[in-house]
Amino acid sequence: MLDMPLEDTEAQRLAALRNLQILDTEADPAFDNLTQVAASLFNVPMVLVSLVDEHRQWFKSRIGVLFPQLPRQGSFCSYAVQSNELFIIEDALLDPRFAHTPFVSGPPHIRFYAGMPIRSEDGFNVGTLCLIGTEPRQLSDIEQHHLILLARQAEQLLYLHYRTIQLALQTQQSTASNARYAAIIESAAAGIVRIDGRGRILQLNDSALRMLGYQPEEVLEKNVKMLMPERWATQHDEYLAAYQTTGEKHVIGIGREVAAQHKDGTQIPVHLAVSEVQHQGDLTASESREFIGILSDLRAVAAAREREQQERSLLQVLHRGLTDYHALLSGNTLWQFLKEALKELTQSEYALIGEVICREGSPALKIHAISDLSWNEPTRQLMQKLRDGEMFLSNPDSMLGQVFAGGQTVLSNNMLDDSRGGALPKGHPVLHRYLGVPIIDRGEVIGMYAIANAQQDYDDVLIDWLKPFTSTCALLINLYRQINEQERFTEELKVARDLAERSSKAKTDFLSSMSHELRTPLNAILGFAQLLGNGKQPLAERQQRQVDQILRSGSHLLNLINEVLDLARIESGHTQVSLEPINLQEVIEETLEIVRALAVNQNIGLQVQLEGTQNCLVEADYTRLKQILINLLSNAIKYNRLAGTVILRCQLRENRVHISVSDTGIGIAAEQMSMLFEPFNRLGAQNSSIEGTGVGLALTRKLARLMQTDIFVESAVGEGSVFYFELPLVSMGSARVLDAAVVPELVIGESTTKKHQVLYMEDNPENQRLMQDMFSEIVTAQLRCVCSAEAGFEIACSEQPHLILLDIDLPGMNGFQAGRMLKNNPLTSKIPLLAISAGFSAEDKQQASRLGFAGFYSKPFNLHALAEHIQQLLSAQESL
Ligand code: ADP
Repeated sequence: MLDMPLEDTEAQRLAALRNLQILDTEADPAFDNLTQVAASLFNVPMVLVSLVDEHRQWFKSRIGVLFPQLPRQGSFCSYAVQSNELFIIEDALLDPRFAHTPFVSGPPHIRFYAGMPIRSEDGFNVGTLCLIGTEPRQLSDIEQHHLILLARQAEQLLYLHYRTIQLALQTQQSTASNARYAAIIESAAAGIVRIDGRGRILQLNDSALRMLGYQPEEVLEKNVKMLMPERWATQHDEYLAAYQTTGEKHVIGIGREVAAQHKDGTQIPVHLAVSEVQHQGDLTASESREFIGILSDLRAVAAAREREQQERSLLQVLHRGLTDYHALLSGNTLWQFLKEALKELTQSEYALIGEVICREGSPALKIHAISDLSWNEPTRQLMQKLRDGEMFLSNPDSMLGQVFAGGQTVLSNNMLDDSRGGALPKGHPVLHRYLGVPIIDRGEVIGMYAIANAQQDYDDVLIDWLKPFTSTCALLINLYRQINEQERFTEELKVARDLAERSSKAKTDFLSSMSHELRTPLNAILGFAQLLGNGKQPLAERQQRQVDQILRSGSHLLNLINEVLDLARIESGHTQVSLEPINLQEVIEETLEIVRALAVNQNIGLQVQLEGTQNCLVEADYTRLKQILINLLSNAIKYNRLAGTVILRCQLRENRVHISVSDTGIGIAAEQMSMLFEPFNRLGAQNSSIEGTGVGLALTRKLARLMQTDIFVESAVGEGSVFYFELPLVSMGSARVLDAAVVPELVIGESTTKKHQVLYMEDNPENQRLMQDMFSEIVTAQLRCVCSAEAGFEIACSEQPHLILLDIDLPGMNGFQAGRMLKNNPLTSKIPLLAISAGFSAEDKQQASRLGFAGFYSKPFNLHALAEHIQQLLSAQESL
C-alpha cells in the first residue's frame, strides 16, 4: 500500500472539518437522497458522502457500503481530498496505488472510483462525494459534470447542516438570555416600565406595580401618561413624538428626578432613566419602537433629604437665635423670628410662643408672638391686646393652660374629637392637630410654644427633635428677662440720676439765690444792731440783751449761709483748691487768733504742740486749711466739758505732717460715727444749748478731700475725741520765728517817701511776706497786701495804685475774674496787672494775655526778673 504525503494545510483542513460538527451525526435524509440520486444516475453499486478526518473516512451517507466508516490510510477518498478536482480511477487493478489494497484485491473487488472533493465554506476539502463500481469504467464529460454538480449540492447540504446547528445554538443562547432578562426585569428592585413608541405600556415589572399601586391588567396597553403627574402627562405624547422624529431628548438617555403618580393620587419622587430598546424592526413605525424606563424609588432619599434639610433649618434657627439674639431683642423681632421658625420647622399652619409670668399668685401666659387666629373685628382686637402684652391667658384647664400652668406636653392629632380642650368658640379656625410644649428652666415652666395644623401628625419623634429648639427658647427667655431687667434698672438709674441732677441743680440755684437774698437783709440787720449797740444813747439792759440776741442770731445765720453755700459749691464741683507750699505754723497761728476767744469764753485750755514742725512747709490750700482747723478746733471747744482741754498737735510722719485736734469732751458714740459727716446732722446736739449748723464737719471733710487728704476720728464717749488728718511735707522749717498773728492787710515801707503804690491780692501770708521782702529792695514803691480780690477791688477803685499784682487762686473771686473787673472798670482799666499763679498751664497764660495782663509769673518765680518787670511798669506809669 502506498502512503500518500499530507499537504501542509492538513491541520487547517481538519479544523475546518471539525468546525462543521458533522462527524458522527445522525443520518440525514437530504444527504441520503443525494446519494440515491447519484447511485441511480450513474448506475453504480456504491455511493458515499465521505468525510476524511485524521485517521478515518466517516460516511455521512452511504449506499452499497456496510461500514459507517473505514480507515483513511490507502483509501481512494484520502487521495481525492488531496486533489482539487475530480479524482477518477478507471481500473484499480491497473493502478499500482490501489491494485493491491484489500477492497480491490478482495471483496467487494473495487475496479472503478470517481470522487469529487467537497469543500468547506472556507475552501478546505473536507470529504468527497464518490461513486464506486466493481467494473472498470470511464465517465463521460457530461457524467463528470453531473458528479461535480452533485458534489456542489453535497457542499450546500453541509453548509445547511452547519447553519442549522448554529441557529439551534443561537436559539438556545437567546432563550437563555431571554429567560435571564425576564428574571432580571421581574426581580429587579427598581421599577421597570416598557412602552412602545406611542407610549403604550407593554410591560410593568413587580416593583413598578408595587411602587405605583397597580395590577398588571390595570395598566397594560394603557398610555404611560397615567403613571405621571398632570404637569408631565399633558406633554408626554409630544415629547415622545418629538424624540422619534427629531431625536430631541427630554428624559430619554438622560435620566432625571421626576415624580410618578401613584394609583391613590399621591406623587412619588423617583429617578427615571429611559433608553430606547435597539430593535431590528421598522424604526419609522412607532409601534415597533420600544423604550424601557427604570424607576428608582427616591422616597427614602427624599425623606432623608428632607430630614437633613430640617436639621439644617433647625440648626440655622438655633444658631441665629443664639448669635443674633441681641439684635433680635433690640429690634423686638426675637419672638416673631422664633414663631416663624417654629412654623416652618414643623410645617404647621399656626404657632405661638409665650412667656410664663406670675399674676396674682398664679401662672399666666404672656404671648410674645402668635399667628393670626382672628375671624372678626372683636377677635382681631383681642389678638392685638394679646400681642401687645395688655392681656394674658390664665385658664389652667385650656389646651394652652395645661402646658403653661400644668407643665405638660399636650399632643392631639384629632382635636375635633379631643375632649381635653373644650369646644372652640364659633368662628375660631378649625384646629385638627395641636402640640403644646412647655419651656422649662431648672424645673420651672418659664414659657411655652404651641403649634397647630401640620400636614402630618405630631409625634414623640418631633417633640424629641424639637428639644434643642425648646432649650434654646429657655435660654433666650432667660436672656430676654435679664436684658429687660437690666434695661429697667438702667432706666431707673437714669431717672434717679436725672432727678438727683435736677434737684442738685435746683438746690444750687436755690442756695445761691437765697444767699444773695438773705445776705442783704442780714447785713442790714447786723449793721443796725451794731449801730444800736454802739449808739451814743446807752440801751436799757433789756434792750441791750435783745440787741445782743439779734447780733448772735444774725451771725449764726450768716455762718449757716456761708457754710451751706460753701458746701453747695463744693458739691457742684465749682470749688477749686490751690495746693502750694504754705507755712503750717503760720496758718495755725492765724487760726488760734480766731478760736482763742471762744476757748477763753468756754474756759477751755488751748495747747499747741508743734513737735518739730515749726515753720515747716506743707502742701495745702492756705484758706481751706485754715477753715478746716477753725472748724475742728471750735468743735473741740464747743463739745468739750467744762474747763476741758483742746490740744492741736503736729507730728512729722516720714514725708507727711500728721495734724490732730483732741479734746476732753463728751465724745461720739460708735453708732453715730457713720452719721458724723452727714450735712445738717447734729447727732442730737440740736437739742442742746451748743450753737451749730450741722454743716461744719461735712464741709471740713469735703475740703480735706479736695486737698487730697481726709479727716479721721477716734472717740470715746465721756472721754473725748481726736480728729486728725495728714498733709504732704514740702520742706522742714527754718528757725525764723513768726509773729504770733499775721494781719490780713499789710503796709510795708513808708508811704511818705515812696511814690509808687503797688497792690498785691494774695491770701497766702507766706507769699505776702516774700513779696514784702522783695519790695523792701524797691525803694520807690510801696506794697499793700490784701487777702481777697473783693477787698483788693475796692482799694483799687478808691486809691488807684500804679500796679496790681494778682494771685490767680484766690478764695471767692479768683484772679482772672478780678482782672476782668479791673479792666472793665474805667477807674482801674489803665492800671497794669501782673498775674502771679501757682498754676502754669498754657491755657492760664493765654487767658491772662487775653484779659490784658502785662505778665504772668508762675510760682516759684524768678524774683529778679519779676522785680525788673515791676520797675519797668512803674517807670512807664511815671512817664504817663
Ligand atoms: P455743728 O455745727 O453742729 O457743730 P458739725 O458738722 O461741726 O456741726 O458737727 C456735727 C456734729 O458732730 C455736732 O453737732 C456734734 O454733735 C458732733 N461733734 C462734732 N465735733 C465733735 C467733738 N469734738 N466732740 C463731740 N461731738 C462732736
